[in-house]
Amino acid sequence: MTLLPCYTLTYMSSIFSKIINGEIESHKIDETNDFFAFLDINPIARGHTLVIPKKEIDVFFDLDNSLLSEILPFAKAISKAIEKSVECNRIGMMVAGLEVPHAHIHLVPITSTSDLTFANARPMDQDTLAEIASKIRANL
Ligand code: 5GP
Repeated sequence: MTLLPCYTLTYMSSIFSKIINGEIESHKIDETNDFFAFLDINPIARGHTLVIPKKEIDVFFDLDNSLLSEILPFAKAISKAIEKSVECNRIGMMVAGLEVPHAHIHLVPITSTSDLTFANARPMDQDTLAEIASKIRANL
């Protein structure tokens, strides 16, 4: 009998790694060597986008300093494109990570602080997500 090292038995890639690898479909906005951005499947508002490092790390503030310093400029370009694509006052930002253990920033179009809550999250149909994603990509 061949014994496998225990990391082989226990390691499962996150749902977001599967999205990056194309194993799970997503409405991609943009990507670089280190980062990936795609629409949240249960958006708090139209244009709600998740920005993630490709490196699978659970806790956002466990990212090394170089990834931390580069993720915001990447998110900035995405947020400018979202602002041009949907009605909002500005783009709010949240980091939670209680559902998916793969560090991510939520970029959420808002008009007031009370908009920035997961209580407003609702599933959105694929056609609407596709239409919003294509608008945001065109505004990048
Ligand atoms: P958090 O971990 O910060 O609580 O939030 C995780 C977010 O990922 C949620 O807003 C949820 O809707 C989103 N999410 C979970 N699974 C998927 C998925 O398979 N595809 C997409 N596009 N978003 C997902």
